[in-house]
Amino acid sequence: MVSIATSPLPALPLALPSTLTPSKISAFTSCPLAFRFSVLERLPEPPSLPAVRGTLVHRALQLLFTYADEGARDRARAERSLEQAFADLKSSDADLAALELTDEARSVLMRQAGVLLDRYFEIEDPNTVRPVGLELDMQVEVDGLMLRGIIDRLDVLPDGRFAVVDYKTGRAPRAEQAKSRLSGVQLYAFLCEEILGQRPAAVRLLYLRDRVVVSSEPSDMSMRGVRQRAGAVWKAIERACEHSDFRPSPSALCSWCAFQQYCPAFGGDPNAPR
Ligand code: SF4
Repeated sequence: MVSIATSPLPALPLALPSTLTPSKISAFTSCPLAFRFSVLERLPEPPSLPAVRGTLVHRALQLLFTYADEGARDRARAERSLEQAFADLKSSDADLAALELTDEARSVLMRQAGVLLDRYFEIEDPNTVRPVGLELDMQVEVDGLMLRGIIDRLDVLPDGRFAVVDYKTGRAPRAEQAKSRLSGVQLYAFLCEEILGQRPAAVRLLYLRDRVVVSSEPSDMSMRGVRQRAGAVWKAIERACEHSDFRPSPSALCSWCAFQQYCPAFGGDPNAPR
């Protein structure tokens, strides 16, 4: 009989990510170890129905603004956009495929997405907004670091200034959490200012599920804050990569973490063979 002994993998230095995005900043600051698993090692994670629902609604709104002219963006048109969004994702979204939805589960998903669209229409009339960019992929090098963000929608306001709009399909934050939730969209405002030469007049988070809008006006201070925070997080990621030192940071998020089996906080070994 041949037996093969396995030993823990040595902790090799990990390559830095090529860009820093709001979601990477949030992932690293929430838990450096989970960031290592998901962003740097790209370990597979189980498909998530809420994530697929969010992608579906984002795509439906993108299609609505792309193909329906001002004045024709009504609920019926949005429903057709939702059907088209599902057809698009069916052929392109690995998570949707992996969920292997039954006809009944698909109907439930579409109903839930439809409710989110209903609520979107309660928040704003899409015929009154003038988008100049949808799913706008922006990146700029700042202090040797590549900052990147994909903006759901960039509007032009009646006075000619820009407003950044970000759709959210999860729960709205409590009042005391609202400021920290804005930090991601503040980065989008920073990218607009760097690339388009104009600071947006507003950043708006549209929480469709709860019909809540969280907004703020980017200021000199908030733009300085974006640069400083991004620089500080990047330095911390560089240090962690250099020393292969990614600490677990247990929190309520652990309940949804796909990497518990490799996490010391749950008795796992982060360098165990995969
Ligand atoms: S289980 Fe918690 S502490 Fe461990 S990697 Fe996941 S989020 Fe981090």
